[in-house]
Amino acid sequence: MNVDYFTDAVSAKGVWILQRFEGRDQPGYVAEQGEVLVAEKVVGFKKIKLGTMENVGSGEVDLPQQEMQTTSAWLTVPPTILARVSPSREELIDGLRAVTYLLHHLAPIFLLCDVRDLGSWLGDTTPAEAGAVATRESTKTRLMNAAEFNPTIYLYDSHAGGIGLAERLFEILPDLLRRGLETLSTCPCAFGCPSCVGPVNEVGRRAKPIAARLLRELIA
Ligand SMILES: [Zn+2]
Repeated sequence: MNVDYFTDAVSAKGVWILQRFEGRDQPGYVAEQGEVLVAEKVVGFKKIKLGTMENVGSGEVDLPQQEMQTTSAWLTVPPTILARVSPSREELIDGLRAVTYLLHHLAPIFLLCDVRDLGSWLGDTTPAEAGAVATRESTKTRLMNAAEFNPTIYLYDSHAGGIGLAERLFEILPDLLRRGLETLSTCPCAFGCPSCVGPVNEVGRRAKPIAARLLRELIA
């Protein structure tokens, strides 16, 4: 049998700040570093067609929720900066997800680690009840409808307790953002690809230009 698809897990996740260790106010964002609770649960799977990457099927699974305490660096973008980038909250969420993907995939170059040593998540600083995980889609819906929109990009250490990656991330964040903009600007793709902001079918067609504008504001 010739299998022309691969299976990708659909997971629900949540990140909650437990303790702040350090913070830094930059003109474009607030960077912080501390301890977080990460909860994750695989809730289903998607069948993705090879080549075209289209979704050709899906299903649900019921697996136990995994929780761990670890260290994380995170950055929160204030409303004034967001307003300069786009009036559409949906575009901003797609752009922020693109930036999250980009930073997660670039950070290992600075930290000399594997991409799997880090986890990432776009959430906010006023999340749902602790331990209540949500899929990318339901998180997007929640962020779309939140009274206050304080999106936060989390980059966390995948090793329980942390092995020092979050502290380094907090230090290199300004360089990481600059390198992110460089990578995005020099990538020849039109709408995003796995080498820059992520596959277009995941982040959407507006994500790359919005991510570029966001990064310019964050670096400024
Ligand atoms: Zn690209």
